[in-house]
Amino acid sequence: MSDCLFCKIAQGEIKSDFVFKSEEIVAFRDINPKAPVHILIIPKKHISKISDISENEQQLVGKMIGIANKIAIKEKIDKDGYRLVFNCGQNGGQEVYHIHLHLLGGRKMNWPPG
Ligand code: AMP
Ligand code: ZN
Repeated sequence: MSDCLFCKIAQGEIKSDFVFKSEEIVAFRDINPKAPVHILIIPKKHISKISDISENEQQLVGKMIGIANKIAIKEKIDKDGYRLVFNCGQNGGQEVYHIHLHLLGGRKMNWPPG
């Protein structure tokens, strides 16, 4: 997807504060953090919404969660806990249509979310 912001970040066309990179997945700090630690984990492959994932892509999403857990340890938020979120579609509050897993931590999260 040539006009997708997160494809451009994944391909290094737009600068970002990366905390993780692999063949399939990258993670970088959110530009407008909603918590002391706010990192986005994305696949390099363009997938618009979490509701679009095929059965084959479920493994990729599992890897994204595993990477988020490892980053949480590195960021020292694993002991106190953290939140992992996929916003999906308009009512889910999705703004960027390239799937991304939010890793939020460093403060107490509210429930229910706004
Ligand atoms: P969502 O509302 O779930 O689609 O989340 C999109 C997230 O992307 C928001 O938290 C934004 O702050 C974040 N964001 C937008 N542009 C950038 C960027 N260039 N670099 C890092 N994060 C971004
Ligand atoms: Zn994309």
